[in-house]
Order: sequence, then structure tokens, then C-alpha cells
Amino acid sequence: MTDSNQIVSITRCIYIPKFDEVKDEYIDVSPYKPYERNAIQYECRCRAGSVLTNTTTFKQHIKSKTHKDFIKNYKKYYAELDSAKETIKELRVENEFLIRKNIKLQQKIDELELEEEFHDVE
Ligand SMILES: [Zn+2]
Repeated sequence: MTDSNQIVSITRCIYIPKFDEVKDEYIDVSPYKPYERNAIQYECRCRAGSVLTNTTTFKQHIKSKTHKDFIKNYKKYYAELDSAKETIKELRVENEFLIRKNIKLQQKIDELELEEEFHDVE
């Protein structure tokens, strides 16, 4: 868990538009607070190499035609991918939990086996 978190903090994040349940479509919502400093850099998947660094660059970026087309088609191309990533994240957490649980149970088994051996000797 800690490893993957560290990776996220040093790499550029992918900008993900918000899903508007009422309109049933994706909309642009700035990931930045106004006048935020040292904010995370986002990369938009509408065009290779596009980088968002603050509210201003974000506002400019979402006006471009490439980006508008991208948002219009977002559901078709990326929604599934994003939800799959979310599922992977959840499963990783669950897996981590199960691994720990498994280790504990194995320790219990080892203890019980040792105890049994001890009684056998008696
Ligand atoms: Zn874009």
C-alpha cells in the first residue's frame, strides 16, 4: 500500500472528468482550488503531452476543440477503464487484508503444531 501511494505522489496524475448523474454525461470540473500553489500536475488524455498545472491552464485547456470532443466521447472510451482501475484498487486493498489474515492464521497453525509435537514427546 505505502509503495503505490508514493508512486502516485511523484508521478503526474491523470485528469478525470466528473460524471454528472443528472445529465448522464461527463463534465469538466477543475481539480484545483483557486490560487492553489504547488498543486499536483495533471495530464489530460485528450492529447499527448498536455499538462495542467493550475486553474488558469485548466480553464484554457478545456476550451480547446480536442478536449471538448474528448469529453463528449469520454463515456465511450474511458469510463470503463476508470471503473476497472477503481475495482483493481479495491481488490488490492482486500488482497492485502487477506494476505495479513492468512499470515496470522499460518502462525496460529504453526503454534498449534508445535504444541502438539510437545505433547507427543511427553
Ligand atoms: Zn484535455
